[in-house]
Amino acid sequence: MPHICAICSILLNDSNNTKEHVIPNAIGGVKKIKNFICNRCNNESGANWDFELCGQLEHFSLLFQINRDRGSLSKKEFKTVDGRKIRVLPDGSMEHTKPTINLEEHAKGAKVHVSARNIKEAKQIVSGLSQKMSEKYPKAKPIDIDAIEFKAQREYLESPLEISKSYGGLSAGRSTVKSALAMVAESGVDVRCCEKAIPFLGGSKGSEPCFGFYYDKSDLVLNRPEGLPFHCVHVESDEQEKLIKGYVEYFGHLRYVLLLSSNYSGRSFRASYSINPLTGEELKLDINISLTKSDILDCYQYKRYDADVLNTAMGSILGTLAAIDRERQTEKEIHLAYEYALNKMGVTGDEELTKEDYMLFINHLTDCLAPYLVSMYRS
Ligand SMILES: [Zn+2]
Repeated sequence: MPHICAICSILLNDSNNTKEHVIPNAIGGVKKIKNFICNRCNNESGANWDFELCGQLEHFSLLFQINRDRGSLSKKEFKTVDGRKIRVLPDGSMEHTKPTINLEEHAKGAKVHVSARNIKEAKQIVSGLSQKMSEKYPKAKPIDIDAIEFKAQREYLESPLEISKSYGGLSAGRSTVKSALAMVAESGVDVRCCEKAIPFLGGSKGSEPCFGFYYDKSDLVLNRPEGLPFHCVHVESDEQEKLIKGYVEYFGHLRYVLLLSSNYSGRSFRASYSINPLTGEELKLDINISLTKSDILDCYQYKRYDADVLNTAMGSILGTLAAIDRERQTEKEIHLAYEYALNKMGVTGDEELTKEDYMLFINHLTDCLAPYLVSMYRS
């Protein structure tokens, strides 16, 4: 059977056949298939549809430190539902976008409250302020930084990220439909039978989007690994129903159902590709699209969009993120404390320390770590 490109319908041959990621690599997809789309459509759909979808999901790629073949991650800001701004750094850690400084000046001096992203930054700010203040109030007692108690306080993301509004759109939807269609091709079924998906991808006049959000209490992933930000693409058909249905989920919470064909006359088939993007490991998920044609069409009209289901899904993923973030933060704090202690001792870490110096070193280390350890204990 000759293969045609699922997007532009050109006949595939040795010179234009290409390997396409079933799930975009930028969010951690690994599996590739051949005999599906042409080289040109691969490049164009990657630069437009996949780019749009992966852009909408970029903070998750950052936070979870998703491995990708090409392109590095950059820091990105986003808002939580309660209106706070959070910045995600390329190493996946989160911080406030800026420190806050409250300065109350009195006749005899000033009182200042600094809230910074870490102790080092707080010390820098206070030392800068101290300099300014001693110029302004030459008679005031200078600030002794070492006498100030710096307290670290851990914060966890309690408010969901404001992202649901930025999901969707036709471009990202086309990327999703393409992924589902790739699984149809992978099953050895001629994609031309998907009379809903092919015109939509090809941008034919009058073609309708064939996907919708699915946030219903009845979960289509029967053995959902709670808290795991997995991706999955699943397609299934039933000779009796004459439908080819699809289900796609990204990062364990962005959920779509699709109707790729409603007049399918071939054999029954089902195929899934599920992956843990944190490790690249394939998962065995049991997915069953127990929906009729009209159920799926309802999804297109947001009729299966229960905000509680979305919030619960998001909450579960945020819990995983918080745990990963805590681990990263601990590593970071230990590293900072080690540097601090070396600095205090005026050593590089290569030389042998006497027993006394060693004890002193440990003292500096614990001094620096103490606020963090206390905050960990409290939380
Ligand atoms: Zn093509």
